[in-house]
Amino acid sequence: MMPSVGESGCTVRATPQVYHDLGVRVFINAAGTYTRLGGSRMAPAVVDAMAEAARCFVDVDDLQARAGDRIAALTRNDAAYVTSGAAAGLILATAACMVGTDPARAWQLPETPGLRTQIVVHRAHRNPYDYAVRTLPIHLIEIGFPNDIAPTQPWELDHVLGDQCAAVLYVAAAWTASGALPLDDVVAIAHRKGVPVIVDAAAQLPPTENLWRLTGLGADLVIFSGGKDLRGPQASGLIVGRRDLIEACRLIGAPHHGIGRPFKVGKEEMIGLLAAVQVYLEHDDEARARWAEGVVAALIDRLDGRGVRARRSFPNEAGQPLPRALVQFMGEDAGARRDRVVSYLRAGQPSVEVGVADVDGIYINPMTLDVGEEELLLPCLCTAVDAVAGDRR
Ligand SMILES: *Cc1c(COP(=O)(O)O)cnc(C)c1O
Repeated sequence: MMPSVGESGCTVRATPQVYHDLGVRVFINAAGTYTRLGGSRMAPAVVDAMAEAARCFVDVDDLQARAGDRIAALTRNDAAYVTSGAAAGLILATAACMVGTDPARAWQLPETPGLRTQIVVHRAHRNPYDYAVRTLPIHLIEIGFPNDIAPTQPWELDHVLGDQCAAVLYVAAAWTASGALPLDDVVAIAHRKGVPVIVDAAAQLPPTENLWRLTGLGADLVIFSGGKDLRGPQASGLIVGRRDLIEACRLIGAPHHGIGRPFKVGKEEMIGLLAAVQVYLEHDDEARARWAEGVVAALIDRLDGRGVRARRSFPNEAGQPLPRALVQFMGEDAGARRDRVVSYLRAGQPSVEVGVADVDGIYINPMTLDVGEEELLLPCLCTAVDAVAGDRR
């Protein structure tokens, strides 16, 4: 079976008129699903579903409930909610754990009397996306150290879980520091004290099974980005989990007034995310990984020895089980040559974006390439590496 994610005919060989008119550069994205680089590309079926959704008026509350139920059934969860991104999902999920399903309490926020306001997080998990949670009137209670000298002990978590505790925030990503407790331990300890666990799993797809595996481990609310590998609308996200807490998200979220009103989700995004989940569930993780391995092997074969060292790097930055190629420059001006290659690729025709690795390397990530797009990418990389190697002489 061919990898359906990535063979959607999304490769663009000429600048689309809409971007041309504005003088905005388009590029081959060999870096990954970064919001600042446009995130991901929707499959044509998703774009079509959104266009269809755009043609009619609907009751948005009703659509959110029905789309959520359909997504929940598809992803083997009790309930689901479409948000305007994973970061918005972090705010709604946290607020939901603070207020529960009482509308009076939902509308009470941002006033906190009577609400639980503590959110527990491992120091190892602190990251820039937790700004989302910190915009709420909460107190962040940090536990453990972000290293392995003294890994967080179960009693450290148990100790801070009191009756002021609204939730534990757990971050699932490969770039977090070490020292955190495993998720299943966190769930067991938190649940003994009646405290729900929210998992930020924004970039934890693939593997597809994470859509149900993390809730299966007992996490109460799990948040995914709709605009990363799911390849839904760029400004969408998904919360799956416990039905009462998802109901609380609904109460807090748009179109209802309250602190969730700014995180509006359109009918187009709800339908688009549902379509994206359907497409995603049809794709074959293994076939796609085999394709990505082939791309990385070809990259290494063509680049290694051209004055650079090229090798396979696995898993990728977010911890997704897909390989990248790591190309390293050598010698004392390695950092400068790396920077020149990045600029050269950016200025090229077609333009290419890659990831940077430490001070002297670049990562080439196949996950945002379309099948066949590697044929456009390879010559760009070879030319850039040769040009910069030539600079040296
Ligand atoms: C990308 C990411 C987010 C934010 O996701 P958006 O859908 O862009 O809002 C949050 N948390 C983590 C760990 C992420 O990787």
